[in-house]
Amino acid sequence: MIIAMKILETIRNPSQDQLEFIISYGDRAIVPEIPRLYKLAKKAGREDLIMLLQSIWEKYGRPSPFECPKCGFRAVMPDYVCYVCGNIVSEKYVREKLGFDEKFKEYIKNASVAELNDVMNIGFVLLSEVDVRSPRYRVEASRHIYYPIHLLQSDIEKILEEIRGRKQEY
Ligand SMILES: [Zn+2]
Repeated sequence: MIIAMKILETIRNPSQDQLEFIISYGDRAIVPEIPRLYKLAKKAGREDLIMLLQSIWEKYGRPSPFECPKCGFRAVMPDYVCYVCGNIVSEKYVREKLGFDEKFKEYIKNASVAELNDVMNIGFVLLSEVDVRSPRYRVEASRHIYYPIHLLQSDIEKILEEIRGRKQEY
């Protein structure tokens, strides 16, 4: 592992053999270098090494709940940028992948009117693979990755409808 890191440090453009060695024996230590190693493996057309990098990322990195549509790694961070290939994923894609509509419906049903008003003022919510939260939620305390989702007019209307419905109950 140490040797693999030494090679990585000293050689900017490793040969295929060296690249193979680094990825095969680098283990946890190469996580910070995955973006660079991915580029090199891609350039060399080494799908086998890319698969290996993927398993290292899954094991030691911070896998996102869905894949990057470009490189296939589960590495889309809360800023919508893929850690591995730098691809920027759209909010629409994340909404679909994590089933926003269903989770948002659930959220609206359970949040207080005060919180719903607050969320409308802020203009976005947080979405993970398990739920939707107010932006005031402390995401650092969670093991899930939360993505900010801007509220569309149709989302706002759903909130307003819920608030109106509750007023009628009293
Ligand atoms: Zn990617």
